[in-house]
Amino acid sequence: HTATPGPHVCIVGSGPAGFYTAQHILKNHKTARVDIYEKLPVPFGLVRFGVAPDHPEVKNVINTFTNTAANDRCSFLGNVTVGKDVTVAELRQAYDAVIMSYGADADKEFGIPGENLPGVYSARAFVGWYNGLPQDKHLAPMLDTDTAVVLGQGNVALDVARILLTPLSILKKTDITDHAAAALETSQVKTVYIVGRRGPLQTAFTIKELREMTKLPDCRPVLDPADFTGLEDKVKSLQRPRKRLTELLIKTSQTGGATAQETQRLDQATREWGLKFLRSPLEILPTQDGTRISAIRLGVNRLEGSDSSARAIPTGETEVLSCGLVLRSIGYKSVPIDDSVPFDSQKGVIPNTAGRVTGCKGLYCSGWVRRGPTGVILTTMTDGFETGKAVVDDLTTGVLQPLGGVRGQEWIQPLLHKRGIQAVTFEDWNKIDNEEMMRGEKVGKPREKIVEVKEMLQVALS
Ligand code: FAD
Repeated sequence: HTATPGPHVCIVGSGPAGFYTAQHILKNHKTARVDIYEKLPVPFGLVRFGVAPDHPEVKNVINTFTNTAANDRCSFLGNVTVGKDVTVAELRQAYDAVIMSYGADADKEFGIPGENLPGVYSARAFVGWYNGLPQDKHLAPMLDTDTAVVLGQGNVALDVARILLTPLSILKKTDITDHAAAALETSQVKTVYIVGRRGPLQTAFTIKELREMTKLPDCRPVLDPADFTGLEDKVKSLQRPRKRLTELLIKTSQTGGATAQETQRLDQATREWGLKFLRSPLEILPTQDGTRISAIRLGVNRLEGSDSSARAIPTGETEVLSCGLVLRSIGYKSVPIDDSVPFDSQKGVIPNTAGRVTGCKGLYCSGWVRRGPTGVILTTMTDGFETGKAVVDDLTTGVLQPLGGVRGQEWIQPLLHKRGIQAVTFEDWNKIDNEEMMRGEKVGKPREKIVEVKEMLQVALS
C-alpha cells in the first residue's frame, strides 16, 4: 500500500453498508482511497453472521464485496474496534471523510419479568451462535424441551424457527457451526409457536420465508382457520405482496399447505409450527426450582384499525403457554460507539440528511445505523450508494477541503501499533477463508467457520 495525495475516506464497518458505500465511492471518484475498518478479523457483517446457513445464495454478494476489496485504492483493516482501539476524532484527523456503517449489534428487549431466566435468549444471540459469531459461541441454548416460543413475526423469527425445525441431515450440509449442529442433533424441540402482538395482516415476514416453512420436511404447519375468518373477502383489496402472503396463510390454514400427495407426509410429520396472533408477552414463568423457564404468560389483544398501521390494544384477558425455550425476535438495535458522534437514542440511529451526519461536516453514515435495523441487503445497497454519492459530491464540489499530506491509514497504523493492535488485511482474511473452506471440505460443508477471534488471528497472521 503506497500513500497518494488523493482524498482519504474511512468506512467503519464491513457489512453490506460499508462495502456498498465503498463501491460507489471507488467507482465515482477516480483517486479517492477507501479504508474499511472492522472490529472482527473477518469481513461482511450480517452476511456472514446473520443470513441463515441454509440460504447460501443470499451470500453471493460476498463476491461483489471481494471485488471491491481487490481495488488497489481499497484497504481492509480488520480486528480494529472503532471507539476503543481508535477514536472517531482520530479518524477524522486522518481522513477527509469518515462514514459510520457499523450496523446494529444490540437487541431490543420487552422489559418483562422473567426475561433473563435461563431458557430465554435473543434471536440475535441464537443466530450468532449458529452462525459462528465469536461472542455467542458459548450460548448453549436449552434445547431439551418439546416446545419453543419465538416472540416476533418477522423474517428473523422465521429463520430461527426454521433452524430449530429443519432436519439435521440438511443443516449438516450448510456452513452452520459445528457446535450448533451438535446441539441441534440432540434437540427435543418438536413444536415452535411464532407469536405476534397483531394480526395476520400485520406480519413482517415475506412470502419466500413463509413458503419455506410450509415445505419443511417432517414438519406440519398448524394454523387456526379461525384466525383468518373474513380475510378471504379482504384479500382482493390488498396490495400485491400482502395479498399473496395472505393467500398463502389462508391456504396453509385450510390444508396445511399440502397438495394431495403431501397430505400423508404431513400426517406423519413429527414436528410442527404455528402462528399465534394478537398476543403480547407479559411474563416468563420459572419452574418451581427456578433453574429454567416453564411457561410464558401472554396478554390477548384486539386490533384498532385494520391495515399495516393497526394498533394492538390489550383486552385484559391472559393465557399461559407451556414452553421451555423462548427466543425474543423483536429487532436489532444500534448503539453509539463513540461519544463524539451524535446519536438519536429514541430512534436508535445517527441523525443525518441523505447520509450526511447532522452538524458534523465530513462525517457520514449508511446502512442500519443510518436508517434503523430493517430492510434486506438490497435496501442497504441503495442507501449505501446514496451515502457514497453524498461523499463524492462533497469531495468534488469543494465542500470538503482535502487535508493533504500523509493521511489515511499511514497516519492511523502507527497509532494502532503503539496500542498493540495488529490490523488484519484482506489478504490475511483470504487465509482464514481458505482455511475455513478446507476444513469444510473435509466434512462435506461449504465451510467450517472459525469461531474464536484468537484462532482467526493465528490463521490470519501466521
Ligand atoms: P451489518 O451487516 O451489521 O455490518 C456492520 C459491521 O460493522 C459488522 O461487520 C460489525 O462487526 C462492524 N462493526 C460494529 N461495530 C464496530 C466498531 N465499533 N468498529 C468497527 N466495526 C464495527 N437480508 C437479505 O437480503 N437476505 C437475507 O436472507 C437476510 N437475512 C438476515 C438474517 C438476519 C438474522 C438478520 C439480522 C438480517 C438479515 N438480512 C438479510 C438483512 C441484512 O443482513 C442487512 O440488511 C445488512 O446486513 C445491514 O448492513 P449493515 O452494513 O448496515 O450492518
